[in-house]
Amino acid sequence: MKPKYKRILLKLSGESLAGEDKHGINFDTVMRICEPIKKCNEKGVQIGIVVGGGNFWRGRSSGDMDRPRADHMGMLATAINALGVCDALEQLGIPVRVQTAISMPQVAEPYIRNKAIRHMEKGRVVIFGCGTGNPFFSTDSAASLRAAEIEADIIFKATMVDGVYDSDPKTNPDAKKYDTVSHQEVLSKGLNVMDSTAAAMCRDNNIPILVFSIEDPDNIYKAVCGENVGTVVSNDE
Ligand code: UDP
Repeated sequence: MKPKYKRILLKLSGESLAGEDKHGINFDTVMRICEPIKKCNEKGVQIGIVVGGGNFWRGRSSGDMDRPRADHMGMLATAINALGVCDALEQLGIPVRVQTAISMPQVAEPYIRNKAIRHMEKGRVVIFGCGTGNPFFSTDSAASLRAAEIEADIIFKATMVDGVYDSDPKTNPDAKKYDTVSHQEVLSKGLNVMDSTAAAMCRDNNIPILVFSIEDPDNIYKAVCGENVGTVVSNDE
């Protein structure tokens, strides 16, 4: 099967790395997620990964803390996840590099766009840690920013739901799932895809987003092969 995409940006939430533990990193879960990434890598698909940090810390849920400081903590949490995913990929024999938006040279490379692209061209998976490096943003915004910078064909947003719905399927049994939806509709209806900063960035830079469930990690590979595994958000709709 010929892959549909040349270069993808995979967004993995912190929650997806916690598995049934709900907090921290569950390495069995991370290994299961990394197996289809290996298959994609072996097919020659260039892969950048943005990791979230919600399995450890979210700045916006930090109560009375100074928000920028709480966000710094959240970004450091994403660095922990980046190292965890890096380790799992390496255990599977995949060449991988971590680049962080907050410099920590003893731990990882600093984020350098051209270098990231060069790594991917050489077949290395690049994991982007520390989000955008700025407080008040999310790792979804980091995913849209990095996708634009590395000229990814698409963002794969692997989540805990199997696509985009017109209302919350957990609370509304009649919620309707979209096969395709436009960025504009996501924004105007406030659909639960990404925060509005990230969604607007994707709209303005014409970056499609495929939203699918990570509960079956092989969806990553199926999606790369062009299978319809979730909802496509694009300006074509
Ligand atoms: N964060 C930030 N700037 C960024 C990305 C992330 O300040 O560019 C912080 C923010 O506090 C956020 C936390 O890092 O709550 C973890 O990221 P996020 O909530 O996006 O993780 P996810 O929900 O995807 O696991």
